[in-house]
Amino acid sequence: MDSPRLGRLLNPHLAELEEYAPIEPFEVLSARLGIPAERIVKLDANENPYGPLPAVTEALARYSHFHIYPDPRQSALCEALGAFIGVPASHIVAGHGADELLDYLCRLFLAPGDAAINTPPTFGMYSFDAKLAGAKVVDVPRRDDFSVDIKAVEAAVEAHRAKLVFLTSPNNPSGHWLTDRALERVLALPAVVVLDEAYVEFADPPSRAARVLDHDNLVVLRTFSKAAGIAGLRLGYGVFPPWLMQALLKFKQPYNVNVAASVAGLASLRSARRIEAVVRKIKAERTRLYGLLDALPGIQAVPASQGNFILCRILGRDARGLKLALEHNGILVRHYDKPGLEGCIRISVGRPEHTDALIGALRDLFGALAPDAPGS
Ligand SMILES: *Cc1c(COP(=O)(O)O)cnc(C)c1O
Repeated sequence: MDSPRLGRLLNPHLAELEEYAPIEPFEVLSARLGIPAERIVKLDANENPYGPLPAVTEALARYSHFHIYPDPRQSALCEALGAFIGVPASHIVAGHGADELLDYLCRLFLAPGDAAINTPPTFGMYSFDAKLAGAKVVDVPRRDDFSVDIKAVEAAVEAHRAKLVFLTSPNNPSGHWLTDRALERVLALPAVVVLDEAYVEFADPPSRAARVLDHDNLVVLRTFSKAAGIAGLRLGYGVFPPWLMQALLKFKQPYNVNVAASVAGLASLRSARRIEAVVRKIKAERTRLYGLLDALPGIQAVPASQGNFILCRILGRDARGLKLALEHNGILVRHYDKPGLEGCIRISVGRPEHTDALIGALRDLFGALAPDAPGS
């Protein structure tokens, strides 16, 4: 409830924040639609449909020190992460999801009056966190093919003396890969470049994490939420240049990564080979999903996604209506009310049976919604 008397005590830059639109929890949705949770096909949040490996849940069940506080320096986890990505552990900080590290970066660099560069359509947390810190978010829209307009980024950094540039590769929701040439040009700017690689495991080109060793203005963020399948446990990590490590270790909450996330992360890293096998399965399914979507008349899939999702333009009908119709069939996809994504939905790559359910429902819906168009 608003209190006019006390409301004015709120930090003024927070009053302008747009409300964050969360996804409806799927238990709630299951009750609302009257569809049992296990029958819901959840393709709206890019989660790994296979979940964590049995080795991870077994490690959690075996662990017996949940009553002891975590290690604030995250030594064991960062050593294992360093070995996994080929960077010394002294460059790594883990977070309560990559999201927490984004928030840290914004609060470390941005104050009211400062600027950060965002390249929409992209992940929403960059502008959310920058605004939370009171900063101005300068949007440099992507081109129609979702590539980053580097010239415009260069001009915006100069014009606004921007401190941070957020880049995402593969980009969410387009799946677009940022080229080396583009990355190098942005790294030449007098700003800190935050490269978010939440989906890099699903990409054909390799991670740029090790490039942090050659660039003192590059930060690379990664996560266990997507490929490793533990989004609910909240574990991400960043690779930072030495000067920023010092600042971060002073700044971060001492117990920001909980013990369960750490145990699950270590067990996942020990099973990295088996996670790679799951990733290969998801990539194969992405190819199959592309083929099936391309065969549908009312859908134009944005090509060459390097993530575990496919952005689709819906032709000749309302994208939101289509999303709601799918929801009635227990199939969840993501719809956006954002510039650059008009008429689009994003579909996460699920298990083969999820693809089959989705394509079946789309064929039915297209038949029912547009009797004059071919149904399949
Ligand atoms: C999902 C996602 C994240 C969030 O990662 P967490 O580790 O779950 O906080 C970060 N960046 C992008 C682009 C994402 O899509």
